[in-house]
Amino acid sequence: MEYDVVVVGAGPAGASTAYHLAKRDVNVLLIDKCNFPREKICGDGIAPRAVRNLYKMGLQERLDGNFLKFGGFIFGGAGRAVVKREIPPTPRFPDHGYIIRRIDFDKLLLDYSRENGVEVLEGTKVIAPLVEDGKVFGVKALRNGEEIEICAKVVVGADGAHSVLGRKMGLLLNNPQYLGIAIRQYFEGVEEVGRYLEVYPDRVITPASGWVFPLGGSVANVGVGAMLYQIQKKKIDLHEYFQKFITESAIVFPKLRNAKPISPLRGALLRVGLGGSKVECPGLILVGDAASMTNPVSGEGITYALETGEMAAEHILESRMSGRGIHHDPEEDSFREKLLSKYFHYFRTGIRSIRWGDRPIFMRPLLSVVSKSEKRSADLVRALMYLRH
Ligand SMILES: Cc1cc2nc3c(=O)[nH]c(=O)nc-3n(C[C@H](O)[C@H](O)[C@H](O)COP(=O)(O)OP(=O)(O)OC[C@H]3O[C@@H](n4cnc5c(N)ncnc54)[C@H](O)[C@@H]3O)c2cc1C
Repeated sequence: MEYDVVVVGAGPAGASTAYHLAKRDVNVLLIDKCNFPREKICGDGIAPRAVRNLYKMGLQERLDGNFLKFGGFIFGGAGRAVVKREIPPTPRFPDHGYIIRRIDFDKLLLDYSRENGVEVLEGTKVIAPLVEDGKVFGVKALRNGEEIEICAKVVVGADGAHSVLGRKMGLLLNNPQYLGIAIRQYFEGVEEVGRYLEVYPDRVITPASGWVFPLGGSVANVGVGAMLYQIQKKKIDLHEYFQKFITESAIVFPKLRNAKPISPLRGALLRVGLGGSKVECPGLILVGDAASMTNPVSGEGITYALETGEMAAEHILESRMSGRGIHHDPEEDSFREKLLSKYFHYFRTGIRSIRWGDRPIFMRPLLSVVSKSEKRSADLVRALMYLRH
């Protein structure tokens, strides 16, 4: 089997990469180890910046009216102050996001890519890259118990935070400053939830942070997450923190006192702020979680999965114009440099702010000041959701 591009992983990063390549007539194969629909542990919040990308892909009709839209943001719990704000209108971004279970969202995106010319191979687990002289030229995979080899001019690793391609090529970095862990559970019978993303760095779980994201009716996705260095330093048991969050938080307990869990409590790794991955080597580009593209403050990664997928497609298309045909050589044109120039300053500010944010002595007065000002609370929402550029 031989393709121009093989994309490994059909989450938002892989589906976006493959969609943008197929639209420009690149012969692309998208592989996933799972058969869709499949679960992905997530908060299910799709921020306005991601929605901009989805609408640009032509998905507005499929989303509008079919899933829960949120139009604002509630942030608080470190003290008495709570910031509640509608998403500020901007010319570049929609004034809403969505909350969609990943089991539905990822299937919708994968089906859409397929309809737009992407060849998809589900139930196929990549076990290693094919490498010659340090250059990746394909992948080795298991399908129906048999080993197969697939060659490509460029391989894109969109295989998530545990990326097998990144690991085998020595591209993943395990610095606890850039790793996070989060756990979530679905509940029904949740009260006092509306059309807001609710995020609570509540003092009962400091330095962790929790969320309650409504899914419609009385159902919500509830979770807690923290950075790995915080978990190690304070010897945090995240399951214990989750229990504290739902039973001791003055804001969250009243919402959940009559609620019942309707799924197991499950967790996953986050690779944040571009510091957990080297992103590329000859013949291979990593995108999304594999490229450590989760927002260090909000834990939001769908936006950056979609954006880096599109950027990788553009990068590959540029190589096609070079006269050498489709290829990836970081020495000649670095994809990592492109990510750094777009996201480095924002992510670095985020990494610094969480170091301050886990100190109640700093957080409480800050939230108190922000909650009293329309302008400052709008700025906070813009900053958390990166509603710039
Ligand atoms: C608890 C939690 C809550 C979160 N909440 C939010 C949120 O509310 N909003 C938000 O924007 N982000 C959130 N995130 C982050 C978000 O889930 C990720 O950033 C996003 O899923 C990244 O997309 P991706 O396509 O890079 O990777 P993934 O979505 O992980 O997709 C990777 C794909 O690769 C496949 N794969 C893996 N290994 C192989 C292999 N060897 N062979 C073939 N296929 C393979 C997998 O099956 C999977 O389909 C959360 C994360 C966690 C852990």
